[in-house]
Formats: sequence, structure tokens, C-alpha cells
Amino acid sequence: MKRLTLALALLAALAVPAFAKVQVVSTLQDFASIADSVGGDRVETFALARGYQDPHFVDAKPSFILKLTRADVLIVAGLELEIGYLPPLLDQSRNDKIRPGGPGYLDASAGCEILGRPTQQVTRAMGDVHPYGNPHYWTDPNNGRIIARAIAAKLSQIDPSGASAYQKNLAAFEAKLTEKEKEWDGKMAPYAGTKIVTFHDSWPNFAKHFKLEIVGHVEPKPGIPPTPSHTLEIINLMTAQKVPAVLVEPYFDLKTPNYIASKTGAAVLVFYPSVGGIPAIKTYFDLFDHDIDAFVNAMKGKK
Ligand SMILES: [Zn+2]
Repeated sequence: MKRLTLALALLAALAVPAFAKVQVVSTLQDFASIADSVGGDRVETFALARGYQDPHFVDAKPSFILKLTRADVLIVAGLELEIGYLPPLLDQSRNDKIRPGGPGYLDASAGCEILGRPTQQVTRAMGDVHPYGNPHYWTDPNNGRIIARAIAAKLSQIDPSGASAYQKNLAAFEAKLTEKEKEWDGKMAPYAGTKIVTFHDSWPNFAKHFKLEIVGHVEPKPGIPPTPSHTLEIINLMTAQKVPAVLVEPYFDLKTPNYIASKTGAAVLVFYPSVGGIPAIKTYFDLFDHDIDAFVNAMKGKK
């Protein structure tokens, strides 16, 4: 009897109280949106980076430390995307649960298709290359599916009494994603094989999924601003290969892309890599709805 009481007391201490929501902090709004879908009303989410900010360089606000101190789960993109700002915040939060290796830590890249893993040793001369592969992988909806499953598993581990709810929510998310993927694939199918240039190397997973061919970047190297000589190379390449569009993440200056467009006739398209890029992009589904419609409309204008 005594042992049972003790066991129950221990369980009660370990479990999240019924009235407290699981506190989920993510670095990206994309993960927060997926966590909202999978967690439903059992979770409260907060994203550190806004979708209109460069996810490599986030201004660390003091309020982030409090959020991290109280977090039960931390979802990161990993692959060193957050290396510039997250480690000191984690140190200051003093929350061992959400540190790498802790029970509440979730690296969303695990299990996802990761492209652009360097085949040679990474040096500074190569620019801001990520040694573990391209960290912008959530722009492939199939990776979104893998992330959702990982979030459901993590939440079930942290909050076991919600496991069946998380499974049910996950099933609904996956069903909607499968349906939306058919719609998105259908809209993009006429443009299979279209060549594009992108400002930063943010789109390899999107391009692979939707069968676009990325032939160059406005940045001469990842994280390095445009240079006149590289811009000239891109103009020549786009003219020779008849590239119809330059995709620009919302946090880059449009001056060089507009100049390239004026010389090549290509369309400049502000392309949102994350939820929250504009207020209308509220969910992971909105993200693809918005970008795909923008791309299709721009391509129609080119025909
Ligand atoms: Zn990057």
C-alpha cells in the first residue's frame, strides 16, 4: 500500500497537471503551426523567429529566456540553422529538459529528407555553408508530414495522457496534408522542369518536390551579399537558359533582383519560406497555398 502511494505520488509529480498546457517553444513559426495542429488545445506554442525574419539571424529578446525557462518542449530546425542565437539563450534559460539530449528537445530534421550535404570539407571560403546539409528542409510538404509525426511522438512522451488525442490530431493533419499535396502538385505540374534562380539557397526541398530546377543563386555564396561580377554571371546564365523567375526571400533587398529582372525580363517573386512571412500566411498549409499561387500567377504572365 505504502509503495503504491509512493508510486502514485511520483507519477503525479512527473506528469503534467491536467490544467496546465504543454508549453511548446519552437524556433520557427512553421513548427509552431504544425505543433498547434497536432497538439490541439493541450498545447500552447510560441515561436522565437518571425516568419519575415532571416531564420539564420534572429534577434534574441530577453523575453525568449523566460519562454525557454518555462518550456516543456523545444522544437528546432537543427543542422546549425540556429547556431547563431540559440545556444546562449539555452544557457541562460537553465532548463535542462529542453537542451540537446534532454527529454523535451526535438530536432525536427531527424528523419526528414535533407539535401545539400557537403561532399567535401567545409571551409570559411565556401561562405556560410552548413556542414550537415541544407537546413531549409520544411519547404517540402512531405518533410512537414515527418515533422508532424515526430511532434506527435514527442508530445505523447511528455504528456502520455494526451497520446490518443495527439494521434487523432496527427491523423487529421496528415489527411489534410495528403489532400492539399494533390492540389499543390496539380497546380505545379504544368511547370515541371522550369528553371529558377533564388536569392539564398533556401529552396532545394521545395524545388525537388515540385520539380523545379534551381540553376543559380543571387548570393555568390550562402550568406554573402551580391557582388557585381556574380550578378553579371547570373544575368548571362539566365539569359542563356531563358530562366523566367527569381525567387527572393522576404528579408533580402530587392535592388539586385530587380536589376537582374530589368536585364533578363524575368519575374521577381517574393517567396515566403515560413509561416508568418505575411499576416495572411497563418498556417503550414497557407504557406504552400500562398507561394504556389504566386508562382503560378507569375508563370501565367510569362506565357
Ligand atoms: Zn540558409
